[in-house]
Amino acid sequence: MSKAKSSESVKVVVRCRPMNDKEKASKFDRVVSVDVKLGQILVRNPREASELPKVFTFDSVYDSNSKQIDLYDETFRPLVDSVLLGFNGTIFAYGQTGTGKTYTMEGVRNDPERRGVIPNSFEHIFTHISRSQNQQYLVRASYLEIYQEEIRDLLSKDQSHRLELRERPDTGVYVKDLSSFVTKSAREIEHVMNVGNQNRSVGSTNMNEHSSRSHAIFVITVECSELGVDGENHIRVGKLNLVDLAGSERQTKTGAQGERLKEATKINLSLSALGNVISALVDGRSSHVPYRDSKLTRLLQDSLGGNARTVMVANVGPASYNVEETLTTLRYANRAKNIKNKPHINEDPKDALLREFQEEIAKLKEQLEKRVGKKKRRRQRKRAGEGEDGEDGETEEEDDEEEAGDYWREQQEKLEREKKAVLEDHSLVAEEKERLLREKEKKMEDLRREREVGEMLAAKVKAMESKLLVGGKNIVDHTNEQQRMLEMRRQEIAEQKRREREMQQQVESRDEETLELKETYSSLQQEVDIKTKKLKKLFSKLQAVKAEIQDTQEAHIKERQDHEQNQNELTRDLKLKHLIIENFIPLEEKNKILNRAFYDDEDESWKMKPITRIEDDHQMMSRPPSAVGYRRPLSHHAQIAMKIKPDMRYKAENILLLDMDLPARTTKEYQEPVIAPKVAAALEDALRDEDEIQVDASGFHGSLGPTPPASASGSIKKPKSGRPRTSKKSSTPTSPFSPCSPGSPIYPQSRGLVPK
Ligand code: ADP
Ligand code: MG
Repeated sequence: MSKAKSSESVKVVVRCRPMNDKEKASKFDRVVSVDVKLGQILVRNPREASELPKVFTFDSVYDSNSKQIDLYDETFRPLVDSVLLGFNGTIFAYGQTGTGKTYTMEGVRNDPERRGVIPNSFEHIFTHISRSQNQQYLVRASYLEIYQEEIRDLLSKDQSHRLELRERPDTGVYVKDLSSFVTKSAREIEHVMNVGNQNRSVGSTNMNEHSSRSHAIFVITVECSELGVDGENHIRVGKLNLVDLAGSERQTKTGAQGERLKEATKINLSLSALGNVISALVDGRSSHVPYRDSKLTRLLQDSLGGNARTVMVANVGPASYNVEETLTTLRYANRAKNIKNKPHINEDPKDALLREFQEEIAKLKEQLEKRVGKKKRRRQRKRAGEGEDGEDGETEEEDDEEEAGDYWREQQEKLEREKKAVLEDHSLVAEEKERLLREKEKKMEDLRREREVGEMLAAKVKAMESKLLVGGKNIVDHTNEQQRMLEMRRQEIAEQKRREREMQQQVESRDEETLELKETYSSLQQEVDIKTKKLKKLFSKLQAVKAEIQDTQEAHIKERQDHEQNQNELTRDLKLKHLIIENFIPLEEKNKILNRAFYDDEDESWKMKPITRIEDDHQMMSRPPSAVGYRRPLSHHAQIAMKIKPDMRYKAENILLLDMDLPARTTKEYQEPVIAPKVAAALEDALRDEDEIQVDASGFHGSLGPTPPASASGSIKKPKSGRPRTSKKSSTPTSPFSPCSPGSPIYPQSRGLVPK
């Protein structure tokens, strides 16, 4: 098989969707017309009816009546076929949001008529495998999304995790830790896609907006192993990337600042990088292709000017209000036509999973074989010994598995029998019996374990083998002969159509050249007429080209202004940050950070080196080890200082263990006073229970409200309370502002402790 192929162009097709209900209701003009036969798209200027329509020619074009299956048969089937042969293939859907990218890629899931490329390719791949002969296949799928330059694995459990791109010299760029699922049927791979789609919408509040700002890439890897002429197994690996790009309309960033501006810039980044890569590839003069500018272009590097086969579907809308975007899309697509790829078959790559599987299966089988072989030999030996069993005549041609099963059963029965014999043997001493029984039990246990291991190995082999698909065995092709013929006819028709279109295009271009050569003029007048006609034709062509140039220039100017605005905003941002650094960050700190900062090529971002000791750069400064008995780490210095002088400052904790600092005493021991009898009597009087005190309040009359009844005038008895004695004092009014007339004692006599 030829490994290398000459270069071929990226195939570009355009699809125009039908007017949607809203457009019909608003009676928008249809400005796009499609000439399927010629492969041309004509776009009218809605403002200038007299202006000639702009014409774009592509490999094929599809109008609003196009069927999904026609698109598949004509455009995508050949690509998927080459993936099955071991080429890498990529299908991009490009266009403004709402023009049918997702419809083309996925379509309507439950409707077989309107299924898109992705489900159709599932069907195609597994049908192909089911019809194959003497080939072993392994199919696996991955699904990822790029949003704001971050890669999310749509099949992983942890959707918050972001993946990184890595590069290896032998296999190129890949996504590190991207999960992939081995699938055995179209149903299984469809399930994988559904899971991914669910995850895609989970993180987003508005699915439409989200999908218009993110790129979704579904990757199918088909590995095929076949016995080559050299008698060795050869593996071919084809990878199919199915890419639903973000909407090509410019993300408006008017007025956006800071984070929002960055967001808008990032959303645009991958698509504009794709545009730049295409321009650089087509230009021919530029030696540098900016693949590294975005994740998308890095990941799909092979598909653009690399070793993959690529089809780009440019989707456009027919209505007049979309004309600007439609033209931009068509120009973009027109440029992409000129990209040259050099597709080649990936034969025996190092990272083929199929090879790993085959090797693993072989290893497991060998292990299993060894075990069974050992048993067999042992059995044969035993059989030779116990000739009396009379089983020698058994044929050796039974199925391995059955034999293994038989063997286990036989061994178990034998052990049971022996155990029984021991139990029934009365001649043995009890101890001996016990020992023998234990021995038998242990043997039985060993046997069981061995059997389990054997079964596990066999199951593992089976599971792995079931993942490797073989035509007519793992998956049966249910289509009948008639259907198969139908498919073939469809393919032929598609091929025919393609050839017809190519020829038409050639005829068209030659027409103009040959016309001149054939013509002979009978009269001067005729010559003038014909030449005038031709001149007119050429003039209109010139006008069209001029208009095109002008349009392109305008588009460039717009783009440049956009870039300039972007640059201005970023510069402003940068200046502000500089000012902050200059004015608020000490120079020393700034230098420290500058010294620590380094650029990580792998991640393509700036990072900080960990803080290190100055002397030995490689050793991380670690926390001082905790001093024994302390909960907190202590520095060496503190530990020493603590020992030398009992300074509180170095006692990081446990300060309570300090010796108590006793202050000088300021009190005296109590000494009983010598009390005069008079004082003692007064004291006793004062300490008497309050209840017993007689208060004479006769002097209160007149100055204090209504006169209390005569019976109460003698003594006011305080209600009994449970309060302790000490507080009783407060119940006597002491305020100097109490209403009283000087000289008249309104208070009861003081009964204080200290005689005045
Ligand atoms: P995009 O993914 O480009 O944003 P969609 O694929 O979501 O656009 O398409 C927008 C709408 O147009 C959908 O409702 C889709 O069903 C419809 N549509 C797009 N293309 C076609 C087509 N060729 N035929 C019928 N309906 C279409
Ligand atoms: Mg979409």
